[in-house]
Amino acid sequence: MKTSWNHALAGLATLVALSASPAQGGLLKALIVDGQNNHNWRGTTPVLEKLLKETGLFTVDVATTPAQMDQFKPDFAQYQVVVLNYNGRDWPAETRAAFEKYMRAGGGLVVIHGADNTFPSWPEFNEMIGLGGWGGRNEKSGPMVRWREGRLVLDNAPGAGGTHGAQHAFQLVTRDPRHPIMEGLPEKWMHATDELYSKLRGPAKNMTLLATAYADPKKGGTGEHEPALFTIQYGQGRIFHTVLGHDVPQHACVGFIVTFQRGAEWAARGKVTQKVPADFPTADQVSMRK
Ligand code: ZN
Repeated sequence: MKTSWNHALAGLATLVALSASPAQGGLLKALIVDGQNNHNWRGTTPVLEKLLKETGLFTVDVATTPAQMDQFKPDFAQYQVVVLNYNGRDWPAETRAAFEKYMRAGGGLVVIHGADNTFPSWPEFNEMIGLGGWGGRNEKSGPMVRWREGRLVLDNAPGAGGTHGAQHAFQLVTRDPRHPIMEGLPEKWMHATDELYSKLRGPAKNMTLLATAYADPKKGGTGEHEPALFTIQYGQGRIFHTVLGHDVPQHACVGFIVTFQRGAEWAARGKVTQKVPADFPTADQVSMRK
């Protein structure tokens, strides 16, 4: 009797676990949004899709904005994370409202590089991404975020939001080693030749700075430790923002790959189960995958 009761309990536990599973086989559901970008989205979306799938954690759908923008209505609510590889025209009001609702209720968002250029006039979106660049952004968009003397500082100096010098390899420095996305990564590591986004501006609310990159004036940089990887809490929603990843070659940098994969898992479910791979870059050596 006792045994069968235990069996029944075990069965019930299985049933509960199954019904709580986010997708078939317990996989997390990711949606990549693309379709317009001043960057090579046709090249990078398949790479992002492959990187998500190779974790063994995600199923991936892609929503590409149609020519008739009023028909763009993805069902965000069925996904644990939306990966934004988009910099283009405004979504319809109904879609913007659905996305805000999805995020407030605990959705996940990953912002890739040029995706923080989009939607300069959508206040809620700018709160989600923390910081953005270009698109007419300036001091009215919010402060710049700097890492000075061991802490995050908001800088309200006036000026345009968003700049970068010539592409070069640069070093990332971890500023929150205990965050699940960063746990186990080296304190310093080299990122492959890329644009070092600088002077980004935005609301910068509920923001956690994970890593910065020093924008060397010798490379046309600002002389500041610029935010490179950060998270934002928006309602119950989690956002991972990486300014890395200009084009396909940058998506082969192991530092980009690993922080993207871990950031996507964290945005989807608030924890990271992935191990740090042996080929992760070091403080002075870039590491690339074929
Ligand atoms: Zn770029």
